[in-house]
Amino acid sequence: MIVVKGKPLDEILSFLLPYKNVLIVGCDGCTQPPRGLREAMTYAMLVEMGAKLRGKTDLKCRATTVAKQCDNHICSTTLTPQLEGVDAILSLACGVGVQTLVEVFPEVPVYPGQNTTFIGSQEREGSMLYEKCKACGECLLGETGGICPITNCPKGILNGPCGGCVDGKCEVPFEIRDETGKVVKTVAKDCAWYLIYQRLKKLNRLDLFRKYRPPRNRAISSSPRLMEVV
Ligand code: SF4
Ligand code: SF4
Repeated sequence: MIVVKGKPLDEILSFLLPYKNVLIVGCDGCTQPPRGLREAMTYAMLVEMGAKLRGKTDLKCRATTVAKQCDNHICSTTLTPQLEGVDAILSLACGVGVQTLVEVFPEVPVYPGQNTTFIGSQEREGSMLYEKCKACGECLLGETGGICPITNCPKGILNGPCGGCVDGKCEVPFEIRDETGKVVKTVAKDCAWYLIYQRLKKLNRLDLFRKYRPPRNRAISSSPRLMEVV
C-alpha cells in the first residue's frame, strides 16, 4: 500500500478558493488510509464549509472515485463523462495518481489533497503503518530472510550489523510520527541485521548472512525511472 497523509485544510483551500466547481477524486486502489468515495464526500463537505467560513460561498464540490488513479485508461473512461463544468480537480490519491490526472486532463488544474509518504504495510490489530520498501530496483529479500535492510536499517547497510548494534537494538532512535508529521514518540528499534541474522539462523541459511553483498547499482534507481511493459 501507498501510505498517505491528508494535507491541512488550509493548504487545500489555498489551492481551491479561486474556483467554483471542484471535482474531488478518490482512489479505490492502494492508498492507506483509504481515500475512496466516502473520504471524497467528507473532503467535499469540509472544503465547502471551509470556503464558506472564509467568505467564499460559491465554491461547490462533487465527489467521485476511480478504481486506480494510476491507470490513465481507467481515469479517462471514468472521469471524462463527469468533467463538464468542472474547473479544478482535487485528487485524494498518491503523487502518482495526481500526476496521472494531470497527464490525462491537461486542460484542468489538478491539486493534491495528500502528502505521499512511503510504501508500507499495516498491522490489522494495531493502528501503525510500517515502511517496508524503498523500491530500490534490486530486491535483496531472497538473501536477507525476507527482511529489507534498505528500509529497516537507517544506514541502509548491506553487510551488517554496524558497530551500533547493542543487545540486538539499533543505535538510531526510531521516531513515530502522527498524521501531521509531528514526532509523538521515540522508541528503541531492533537492529535490522540482528533480525536478519535471527531469521536466517532459523531457516538454517546463515550462509546467506556470511555472503558479501557489493554496493548497490544506484544507476538503476535513479529518477525518473521508465520500464517497458511487455
Ligand atoms: S530490497 Fe528492500 S527496498 Fe529493495 S525492492 Fe526489496 S524490499 Fe524494496
Ligand atoms: S544498528 Fe543495525 S539497523 Fe541500526 S544502523 Fe547499525 S546495522 Fe543498521
